[in-house]
Amino acid sequence: TVLVAGSANLDFVVRVPHIPAPGETVLGSNFLTFPGGKGANQAVACARAGGVPTRMLLALGADDFAAPLEQSLRQAGVDARVVRIADAATGVAFICLAADAENAITVAPGANARLQADDLPDLSDTSHLLMQLESPLEAVTGWALVARNAGVRTVLNAAPARSLPAELLAAIDVLVVNEGELAVISGESGPIATAVERLGKANVVVTLGAHGSCAHIDGEWLVQSAFAVDAVDTTGAGDTFCGALVAALAQGHGFAVALRRASAAASLACTRMGAQAGVPQAVEVEELLAN
Ligand code: ADP
Repeated sequence: TVLVAGSANLDFVVRVPHIPAPGETVLGSNFLTFPGGKGANQAVACARAGGVPTRMLLALGADDFAAPLEQSLRQAGVDARVVRIADAATGVAFICLAADAENAITVAPGANARLQADDLPDLSDTSHLLMQLESPLEAVTGWALVARNAGVRTVLNAAPARSLPAELLAAIDVLVVNEGELAVISGESGPIATAVERLGKANVVVTLGAHGSCAHIDGEWLVQSAFAVDAVDTTGAGDTFCGALVAALAQGHGFAVALRRASAAASLACTRMGAQAGVPQAVEVEELLAN
């Protein structure tokens, strides 16, 4: 089983001609709501990849925004373990989606900020724990340490970017970052190879947007191109990548196969609106990989 511990947000999305500059007002489309949040997106992506049961630890408020988030997880087949926070709002994200598929996102974490280290469920049937940084750093660090001690493989998608306590970094088996996150965590904004080297971790995966991804695994570099698609909404592409990657690793695949599957799933996710709504089914990924 894969356990995803992290955030769930209801995304409020408006399409705009361009992302507003500070002080600017931009007239957009009607707004749409979609289930989102890095944790829940990654759980949905892991479950839809198939082949491995997926559980998720998340926190929700006692308001109307919680139900669609629970429903999306249920529909994807994620076994959700919800910590209900009576005096907090469910997490929400305000997303401006530009015509060129670029986005700008503001998150109000609400209940997500109240997850704690001791909320982690029993790990006896868990092979991999997947985390992000939309949860309190103390909680993420606590989860990683407990999982490490229990022999569970720990995977951290270090997003949104922030510098990591050494204790947390040391407890991570696989780090997944984009270029910006890599620069923040390593303190090196130069070449990717230099930044990865500075981290001194055995397994680092770097996503490169439309350029694909690369990984430094036990001293060897792997390179995976993206699949060419007409991108309409890249929200959740990185999350889809992480969920599909861990699903493949938990099925016993090596990093080369896992990167390829993650890349195909993430590219397909760019062709559809919505973070969780955009996560492809396993058959669609198979089809893309077969071509
Ligand atoms: P994040 O959104 O976390 O910054 P990236 O932008 O690096 O993550 O995207 C994650 C993955 O999604 C990439 O490695 C790639 O596989 C896929 N992807 C992102 N943008 C595109 C695109 N325009 N076309 C095809 N695939 C894409």
